[in-house]
Amino acid sequence: LFCLLFKIIIFKVALLPKLHHLSKIRSTYLNLPPEIRTTGLYLLFGFLWILFSDKAVLIFTRDPVAMNTLSTFKGWFYVCVTAVLLYLLLRRDTVRNTKYTNELKKAKETAEAADNFKTKFLANISHDLRTPMNAIIGFSELLQRSDIPEQKRDTYLVFINEKSKELLHLFNNLIESSKIHEGQLVAVYDTINISNLFERIYNSHISVVKFILNKDIKLKCELDCENSSATMVTDVVKLEQIINNLVYNALKYTQEGEICLGFSLSDTVVTFFVKDTGIGIPESEQPFIFDRFRQVNVDDLKSGAGIGLSICKAFVEVLGGKIWVESKPGIGSTFYFTLPRVH
Ligand code: ADP
Repeated sequence: LFCLLFKIIIFKVALLPKLHHLSKIRSTYLNLPPEIRTTGLYLLFGFLWILFSDKAVLIFTRDPVAMNTLSTFKGWFYVCVTAVLLYLLLRRDTVRNTKYTNELKKAKETAEAADNFKTKFLANISHDLRTPMNAIIGFSELLQRSDIPEQKRDTYLVFINEKSKELLHLFNNLIESSKIHEGQLVAVYDTINISNLFERIYNSHISVVKFILNKDIKLKCELDCENSSATMVTDVVKLEQIINNLVYNALKYTQEGEICLGFSLSDTVVTFFVKDTGIGIPESEQPFIFDRFRQVNVDDLKSGAGIGLSICKAFVEVLGGKIWVESKPGIGSTFYFTLPRVH
């Protein structure tokens, strides 16, 4: 007992202050290759067993026959414990390796997807920039000629104006998309007249339908006459951009028929909608179209940056609402979103 007490005191006085070295030893140990760690632990356990197991037996008995029997059990015990120890060590390394491999695989897939998106995005953006730019350059060159009739001159000016608006719309979307990505969305609230806003949006798109698009499309605005003075408190710039994005899409994905925009009111909520008779969206794709860079049917149309709907979703959510789509391929789509009437 005296001897044991002495050892405890020695341990406390001499070894305890050095315990902080243990964490260093542990990290050095963990940095070793797994096969060296496993072999090292196996050897350490073996040495300790050989050094101390006989002494442990002597604590219980000094009878030679009993000691002989105990040595046999000692051997079995050693084999079983080392087997369990090896199993645990190997399993821990395998689990850790599988985890690292899965993480690496995921990181690789994410990097590849991001790379694909980037390539597709750049190709689409350069197409979307070049088309209106070429139109603006082409029509402004035509305007420089002196022999152009007055009526044609006006049409060219409408083209230049609309194509410039298209470019501005694209730049706005790109800027807002990067703001969303950086988490810098801020809403600026104001009281607005909803019908006035719709009239403005309708007027800004009607000349595109009439003069620019070579499609048989009717643009309609369903305004609630009883509620022409209805107001709401919201961020008008964001609301306008949401509706514009939806109308731009409706115009892009509809060949003929009609596009209708409007809203319905309750005491607390405004429900906006943009309805078209376009190509529609397959049901399987509908849950994903609000994701950034997610595009359907792009091969046919070769246009769009794939960010319009993700911006709509982020804006609607920052303004406290919800957005969703109801669509049938070949029949058309209706995009709905709700916003609270007061902030
Ligand atoms: P894009 O720039 O490709 O239009 P969006 O984020 O605006 O990107 O839209 C994502 C995808 O949703 C589009 O690629 C298109 O396939 C589909 N989509 C959006 N609006 C409509 C619509 N009105 N009719 C049919 N498909 C649509």
